[in-house]
Amino acid sequence: MTSTKIINRVLDRDHRMCVIRGPFCTVHATCADHRAGRGAGGSPILDDPANLIAACQLCNVWKEDATGPDREKLIHRGVRLVKRATNEATLELARIIPLRFPDGTSWRLNSDGTKHQLVAAEAQEILALYGIHGAVA
Ligand SMILES: [Zn+2]
Repeated sequence: MTSTKIINRVLDRDHRMCVIRGPFCTVHATCADHRAGRGAGGSPILDDPANLIAACQLCNVWKEDATGPDREKLIHRGVRLVKRATNEATLELARIIPLRFPDGTSWRLNSDGTKHQLVAAEAQEILALYGIHGAVA
C-alpha cells in the first residue's frame, strides 16, 4: 500500500489531474497509479514518485486491462512501463523514461517527487535509445 504522503506528493506534482486520460476519464485524479505495476505482494520499492502518476479511479482500472494499440500508446507515453528483471532495474527505468502529459509536454519524474521538463527531441532520443517506438498521439 502506497503511503498517503507519497500519494499526496504525486497528486500535487501532477496538479491533481489524471495523466492517463483513458476513454472513461473523469480528469480529477484521486489516486496514484503505478507506471510499472507492483503486482501481488510486490516490493514497496516501486512505490516511488518516479514510478507513480496521478490518475482517476476509472483510468487506474482501465489501464491495467488495456491491450493492443491502447497499451502501445500508454507505453510510448511512458504512462506504462514494461518491467525489467528486478524491481531495482524497473525503478531505474522509471527515473529515465520520460512521461508525456496530456498537454504533450514530456517530463522526467524524480524520486523526490519533483519533475524535470525535457524538450521533445530529448524525450524522443531517450525513447529510441530504450527501443520504445510507436505513434506519437
Ligand atoms: Zn482518468
